[in-house]
Amino acid sequence: MSIELGLKEENKITLLLSGLEPLVVRADSNFVNIGERTNVTGSRQFLRLIKENRFDDALAVAREQVLNGAQILDVNMDEGMLDSKAAMVKFLNLIAAEPDIARIPIMIDSSKWEVIEAGLKVVQGKSVVNSISLKEGEKEFKRQAKLVKRYGAAVVVMAFDEDGQADTYERRISICERAYRVLVDEVKFPASDIIFDPNIFPVATGIEEHRSYALDYFRTCKWIKEHLPAAHVSGGVSNVSFSFRGNQALREAMHSAFLYHAIKSGMDMGIVNPAMLEVYDEIPKDLLQHVEDVLLDRRDDATERLVTFAEHVKGKEKTIEEEEQWRKSDVDSRLAHALVKGITDFIEIDTEEARLKYMSPLKVIEGPLMAGRNIVGDLFGSGKMFLPQVVKSARVMKKSVAYLTPFLEEEKKGSGQTAGKILLATVKGDVHDIGKNIVGVVLGCNNYEVIDMGVMVPADQILKRAIDENVDIIGLSGLITPSLDEMVNVAKEMTRLNLNIPLLIGGATTSRVHTAVKICPNYKGPIVHVLDASKAVPVAGKLIGSERLTYFNQISEEYSKVKANYEKHRNEKPLRSFNESRKNKHQINWRSQDISIPNTTSIQNVHEISLTDLRLYIDWTPFFQTWQLFGKYPSIFEDKVVGEQAKQLFYDANIELDSIITEQKLQGKAVFGIFPANAHDDDIVIYSDETRKEIISKFITLRQQNAKAEGQANLALADFIAPLESGLKDHVGCFAIAIFGAEALAQEAIADHDDYKAIMIKALADRLAEAAAEWLHEKVRRDYWGYSAEEHLPAQELIAEAYRGIRPAPGYPACPDHLEKNTIWQLLKVEKNTGIILTENLAMYPTAAVSGYYFAHPEAKYFGLGRIAEDQLQSYSERRGISLDEARKWLSPNLNN
Ligand code: SAH
Repeated sequence: MSIELGLKEENKITLLLSGLEPLVVRADSNFVNIGERTNVTGSRQFLRLIKENRFDDALAVAREQVLNGAQILDVNMDEGMLDSKAAMVKFLNLIAAEPDIARIPIMIDSSKWEVIEAGLKVVQGKSVVNSISLKEGEKEFKRQAKLVKRYGAAVVVMAFDEDGQADTYERRISICERAYRVLVDEVKFPASDIIFDPNIFPVATGIEEHRSYALDYFRTCKWIKEHLPAAHVSGGVSNVSFSFRGNQALREAMHSAFLYHAIKSGMDMGIVNPAMLEVYDEIPKDLLQHVEDVLLDRRDDATERLVTFAEHVKGKEKTIEEEEQWRKSDVDSRLAHALVKGITDFIEIDTEEARLKYMSPLKVIEGPLMAGRNIVGDLFGSGKMFLPQVVKSARVMKKSVAYLTPFLEEEKKGSGQTAGKILLATVKGDVHDIGKNIVGVVLGCNNYEVIDMGVMVPADQILKRAIDENVDIIGLSGLITPSLDEMVNVAKEMTRLNLNIPLLIGGATTSRVHTAVKICPNYKGPIVHVLDASKAVPVAGKLIGSERLTYFNQISEEYSKVKANYEKHRNEKPLRSFNESRKNKHQINWRSQDISIPNTTSIQNVHEISLTDLRLYIDWTPFFQTWQLFGKYPSIFEDKVVGEQAKQLFYDANIELDSIITEQKLQGKAVFGIFPANAHDDDIVIYSDETRKEIISKFITLRQQNAKAEGQANLALADFIAPLESGLKDHVGCFAIAIFGAEALAQEAIADHDDYKAIMIKALADRLAEAAAEWLHEKVRRDYWGYSAEEHLPAQELIAEAYRGIRPAPGYPACPDHLEKNTIWQLLKVEKNTGIILTENLAMYPTAAVSGYYFAHPEAKYFGLGRIAEDQLQSYSERRGISLDEARKWLSPNLNN
């Protein structure tokens, strides 16, 4: 029997729910999953966490539900030993502070009205009440419905009345109809906000009356959809298979088959454990037939037949044991499996077994470990595995090798079996190393021996080590623009020493053009720019392989072309003279109402920064980029290619973050100040106090010189500060902020051979530093400066910087001059006040740090400086008090040479 739906238009009304994000349930929407693990009656684990007051861990359960694809979160605290009301309120409040959980709507689940109402008072978004019914009569039903309506929630109505629960088709539809009429006609409850739960009961119980339970549910779904316009249908699915507790495989098949028919009949949503679902098409045909005989009540002996069949299914049951079936295979396969899946749990036992088998630690590395690693390398190379998986795999490899190392000492190490030796270093003056570490791990996974010299490594040390170790390739990394120059310096040194080692260039500000134009002319050996960790492997292969001479020629030709092309076009767009550009500055109509006097102007230290608060300000999109998973948070989770990996990574990241926060493993520190200031040409002069007599410092800003369209200004940041002539008392701010402790934590992880964790910690520290900058900026706007005292923006709008004022950062496009950091450091005594230091090339340390200026004028905006000319360079060097040559060095990325 088949019960297909053919709905009339008016019955296809949409149900709208929301957490931080909307959830739209249309007639043609896919089935909506309701997460059920945050339910003390359904999960013993969750009950224990709540009883023991471990709300952080309880939140982790909620987060896991969201990550596993729950679209609504059912929360139930009904347990005799609990203060259910208090637990509900507390948990919902905690959820509200977790944007990654709060993005989905909540289903407030309780059989006690007072618990529901307490939940309704604190929940955010449009939630669902689960449930109300006619059990206690129409009067109470109406009272509750009115309140639900007033709180703006949708409602689940159980098929229950004064006589008890509806267990036949007839009673189901008559109760639903009665409830619907009361709600719609009398309470004026929006029909699309009504969700019926017409009771899913166990089948195959052996009791005659239960035979038609599933079929009755399907028929009720269909009837509701056809007769009660706009109403929706839900249900708790796992009940149906209650008779087969313990037989997981059968239950999974039963749930899937049940859902298949229920959804066809109009079921819109339900409480289902996604881990307890088989794919309908993958249910073996014979099993499916037996299950459907029961669900659709197709034969008198359906139950007996299924029970008999179940015995046989049980034999093939997919239990936890089966998930660990791989443990039964031979040791080589186990090692390969552990590497591919990134499982460290058994690595030492398996490594020891392999060592005994091969009677040589080296043979274990060269045999099964290499074989496993080759599989990983191939999968990554062909796009079937993603970076986080590769890094996890590296952790397995390292732990295994670490186990073997003491045995290796006896044998001779390094029998030359590696693909090649590569030295990696972040250049002098720079401290950024996440990208370099990732490249190291990926190369390691492809059998390269990697010598990682760390950060801030001077050229002479890099080259000495390269010669001593006779490396095949040197990889240089750096993030800030002065590092580009330092790479040129390394290249020059290589020429001086007459070396011919291939050079890899990588890091965020490096580029093919810079490599071709600035580095290549200084070194005759092969040079390749590699931005992406996955490209490092094939490039290294070609640089070392037998075809390398052909490859050298090919790249040198390619880079010559890039250089020629650059030189041909670089002077095409003429620049304006500096004077002309100044005349075309951004003209603000200076009005006193756009200038606010700050509430506080002294230097402020902020040393108590709550990481829990910062978490809410995290912009996750760049985090995924760090791991080379591209897409915008949170829609990245829906991405067909990287979605699953993104979820897993996000899950791991939040576990790590939980532990960082609860154990206070990292500390944020900041200093900022807001100062009396006026613009003077392109400089911003800073006064000691409001008398504006004594100048204590000045910010030197740079002005765009490119030709502009009519009406477009040649911008400099100084344009956003009132000039002295305006007669207005303007202000400018600046800040420095960092997250301390990540380097030490990452070191600990490395010592434990856990690159995954090490990279994770650094990536999270970077996120927290950016979040801290956002958080502090908000405090400045609302309180310290106070020009936007009423501002209350949700996280997404903060991340989009949809507020008044900007915080440009030295080294970024509007102000590429890193020397400005020295000015900020002196003005705020940053090192003394916070401990954040500047390296000789003006990188900030700790690495997870942000510094910048605060501009408050409503017209202040970000821009890119672009190319500037010699006339401005001249003026700049005079204003800065440095030689033209030195000025040229610092501003070289924006100069025309
Ligand atoms: N939410 C992001 C924030 C960093 S990017 C994250 O977590 O990574 C945005 C910041 O970069 C701005 O706040 C500003 O400090 C800097 N920035 C962006 N564009 C800039 C420009 N054109 N000139 C100067 N600074 C800029």
